[in-house]
Amino acid sequence: MSEQVKSSEVSLDFLGELRRTHSCGALRASDAGRRAVLMGWVYRRRDHGGVLFVNLRDREGVTQIVFKADGDPLVHAKADQLSSEYVIAVEGPVALRTKETINPALETGEVEVVAERLWILNTSRTPPFPMEETVDVKEDARLKYRYVDLRRPHMQRNIILRSKIAFAVREVLTGMGFLEIETPFMTRSTPEGARDYLVPSRVNPGTFYALPQSPQIFKQLLMISGFEKYFQIVRCFRDEDLRADRQPEFTQIDLEMSFPQQEQIYQTIEPLIVAVCKVAGYQVPSKFPRLTYAQAMRSYGIDKPDLRIPPFHCVEDLFQGQNLTLEGLPLVAIAIPKTGTVSRKERDDLKAFGSERGLRVYDDVKRLDRDFPEAMAEVRKRATATEEDLLLLAGWAGEPKGQRPDESVLMACGQLRLHAAQKYNDRHKLLDPKNFQFLWVVDFPMFEWDDEENRWNAAHHPFTSVHDEDIDKLTSDPAHCRAKSYDLVLNGTELGSGSIRIHRRDVQSKVFSALSFTEEEARKRFGFLLEALEYGAPPHGGIALGLDRLVMILAGETSIREVIPFPKTAKGTDLMCEAPAEVPERQLRELGISIRKS
Ligand code: ASP
Repeated sequence: MSEQVKSSEVSLDFLGELRRTHSCGALRASDAGRRAVLMGWVYRRRDHGGVLFVNLRDREGVTQIVFKADGDPLVHAKADQLSSEYVIAVEGPVALRTKETINPALETGEVEVVAERLWILNTSRTPPFPMEETVDVKEDARLKYRYVDLRRPHMQRNIILRSKIAFAVREVLTGMGFLEIETPFMTRSTPEGARDYLVPSRVNPGTFYALPQSPQIFKQLLMISGFEKYFQIVRCFRDEDLRADRQPEFTQIDLEMSFPQQEQIYQTIEPLIVAVCKVAGYQVPSKFPRLTYAQAMRSYGIDKPDLRIPPFHCVEDLFQGQNLTLEGLPLVAIAIPKTGTVSRKERDDLKAFGSERGLRVYDDVKRLDRDFPEAMAEVRKRATATEEDLLLLAGWAGEPKGQRPDESVLMACGQLRLHAAQKYNDRHKLLDPKNFQFLWVVDFPMFEWDDEENRWNAAHHPFTSVHDEDIDKLTSDPAHCRAKSYDLVLNGTELGSGSIRIHRRDVQSKVFSALSFTEEEARKRFGFLLEALEYGAPPHGGIALGLDRLVMILAGETSIREVIPFPKTAKGTDLMCEAPAEVPERQLRELGISIRKS
């Protein structure tokens, strides 16, 4: 008999005035003897020759329900109809389980509820996939039946954690005097550098709202309006090319404050992160280390260093004058701890990885030891490399090219460092996902050179303030202007970025001209902000943290889709409600839109 036919034969009960007394995660040995009414979903059922066990699940946990062989035959017959994911209520006494039947895997595992009454509140079709969290299910099926997938215990845990984190954010920031203020979703283009999602206006045909890529301009306006401390847990929309684990809509913890030094932003975010980690059950240090962008590049070859892996060391000076050509000069030493010796094949792999990035990786460290014993002794000292470590030396394989030649070598070395650490992680276990190493990277370059457009772009966004000492270099030497900007980094992932903003109209004009915006263009795109700067804009600055990524890491997940209730696929589609979708011709006509079929 098919499941659907069987379900239709079940007669359903009304909830009526029935109230649950406990959640499915609440009962303990000390409750034995009490009566309980539980409600939830049939997770598993087992038939033990007349005795029927049902594991009943709600968002708080699982409790075993027992329908005894000598119980009310009507209740038993009804229980016999139960199937996976039926929604039921049961009433009966809480009983201690015998020693042998205690289930230590369940928090309620010392007890069971002996069902004397049963209400079947709803049936369920056979679920599209097993409900156990240990069963791997194809993601397409999970997204199509997301409401069922979200019922699985690990998804419940993730979404509950997300809610608790959001609450902690509100609690901490409100406690610090921040106001939660909403900003519009239907607005104009914002300056974060991605494409906008557009919303056509019916009332003003031919015109479009843009969904905000961030509330950047509005939060600056709120500072100009005198609110002093703003925050919002806010959805942002960016129409970016498809990249793994990006979502077209995502959530930021966005904040802005008036009259801050950079230090004050750090002192706001650090306790916030400590509180959020605590919610997830982790204790992290209350102050995070700080590195300038230049230091990060010099020691890690990346602007978001993973501090679980030691830095590399520049050793160029040790080999100078040693009868080596520039091409052959070892520039950097990388020690990957506790990796031991690597095989010939593994060394070839590291060499190939380096050479794809223009690096020469020295596969024969023993030979360097023999030819340059003093230099190598110093290399080992600098890199604090022991016999147990893998010592890699790398240099540039050819003529460096690009805007910042030294940086491109360092970046390649940074990639080699990460590659080697990831490759041998099973040996040294450095990359423990529960070892949270937060870090501030500060003082980024103000501008990035755009080879294609042959112009400077804002490295953060065009409202970012330049260092006071670099203000005169804005037009004469943009390459060496440092921004008052900062990123919060966790284990090699950028969790958020922010900056002190430009609050003076004259400085904003200078930055626009360094970015090759004409006054006309600047006025057209951001005219209202420029005008607002002329009406008493206070010094201000802020930051935005990616909530999805933060929850993902704290939940121990590796994809943000695991912590977003209704995410899109990597292709930007919603498999459950089948969005995006075509719309009726009439609706397009009202909007004055016609679709060009190519
Ligand atoms: N608006 C920036 C972003 O979304 C963050 C900030 O500068 O506060 O990346």
